[in-house]
Amino acid sequence: MGSSSSLLTDTFGRHHNYLRISLTEKCNLRCTYCMPAEGVSLSPSKHLMTADELYEIAALFVQQGVNKIRLTGGEPLVRKDFPQILEKLATLPVALTLTTNAILVDRFISHFAAAGLKKINVSLDTLNAQRFQKITLKDNFKQVKKNLKLLQAEGFEIKINVVLIKDVNDDEIIDFIQWTAHEPYNIRFIEFMPFDGNNWERSKTVGLQEIQEQISCHFGLDQVIPLTSAPNDTAKTFKIKGFKGAYGIISTVTNPFCDSCNRLRLTANGKLRSCLFSEEELDLLTALRAGKPIEPIISKVVNQKKAIRAGLEAPTNFEDPAHHSKNRSMIRIGG
Ligand code: SAM
Ligand code: SF4
Repeated sequence: MGSSSSLLTDTFGRHHNYLRISLTEKCNLRCTYCMPAEGVSLSPSKHLMTADELYEIAALFVQQGVNKIRLTGGEPLVRKDFPQILEKLATLPVALTLTTNAILVDRFISHFAAAGLKKINVSLDTLNAQRFQKITLKDNFKQVKKNLKLLQAEGFEIKINVVLIKDVNDDEIIDFIQWTAHEPYNIRFIEFMPFDGNNWERSKTVGLQEIQEQISCHFGLDQVIPLTSAPNDTAKTFKIKGFKGAYGIISTVTNPFCDSCNRLRLTANGKLRSCLFSEEELDLLTALRAGKPIEPIISKVVNQKKAIRAGLEAPTNFEDPAHHSKNRSMIRIGG
C-alpha cells in the first residue's frame, strides 16, 4: 500500500487518498438533473483513456498514497472493456468501489466479486416507476429494482444515491426511510447541485435541515440516531431506531464539507480535477502519451485546490448561474 505523499497533500494540509475515475461520458439514462436536454458533445474516442492508460495513471496515484478508487461516469458499465479495466485495477492495493445506475449490473456482477468489489452505490431517485421514467427519460425501473435485489443476494454493501429535487421527489423522503425498516440499504439524500445545462435553481435544492425536519417530524426526534461517520465521509449518517438500514445527507450546497475533502477526479479523457465545482482541470493523458512525467501536473492541480468549493465560498457566489455554465455537466465530470 502506498504511503502518504506530499504530492497529494494540498496547501491546506488535506491529503488526497481517494481517486474517482470516470470511465465514460456516455450513459444509458438521461437523468434531467445530470444530462443537459440537448445532450453533451462527447470527446472523440481516441481522446479517452484506454484500459492500459487508465491503469498506468491509477497505479501512479496508488504509489503516491491513494487507497480508494471509485469507478463512475457517465454510466461506467456501458464501457465495453469494463471487465478488463476492473481486472487490472484489482491488482492494485486499493479499495475499489463503483457508482452505477444498476441497469447492467446483472451482466457484470460476477466480475465485481472476482475483483474484490464489496461496496456499490446505486443511483435511484424514486420508488415509483412512472416517476422514474419522468426523471431518467427511460423505462428501466423494474430492471434497477431487480438488480438491487441481485446485489443484495450476493452480499454487496449497498448505498442508494437519491438526488432530491423540490416538487420532483421530495415527497418520497419518508418512503425511502421506511424502505430501510426491512432492507439494509444506506440511503444517501444528495442536495441537487448546479452544473452546466441542468436548470438548477437554489429553490429546487432540498437542504439538510429541511430533510431532517421532515424525518424527525414523521418518526419522532428521539427515534433518529446519529451514527459515527468515517473521517472523510461526505454524508452525515443516521438511522431510525430498530430499522435495518440507515440514511445520510450529502449537503454540498447548504453545508459544504470541503475541510475534510480527500477526493481527486480523473475524467474519462484523462483530465485531473481537484473539485466538482472547479472549471480548472489539467491534462494528464496527453503528457502520458508524450512520454512526459505526469507528477508535476498532478502536483499543480493539488496545490491549486481552493479551500471551499473551488473558491465559491459565499452562497451568493455559488448560486450565480455564470459559474455553472462554464463548468462541465455532471455526466462529463463523473459524480
Ligand atoms: N451513472 C452513474 C450513476 O448514476 O450512479 C454514475 C455517474 S452519476 C454522474 C454519479 C452520481 O452523481 C449519481 O448518484 C447522480 O445521482 C449524481 N448526480 C448527478 N447530477 C447531479 C446533480 N446535479 N446534483 C447532485 N448529484 C448529481
Ligand atoms: Fe446517467 Fe448517472 Fe447521469 Fe443519470 S446520473 S444521466 S445514470 S450518469
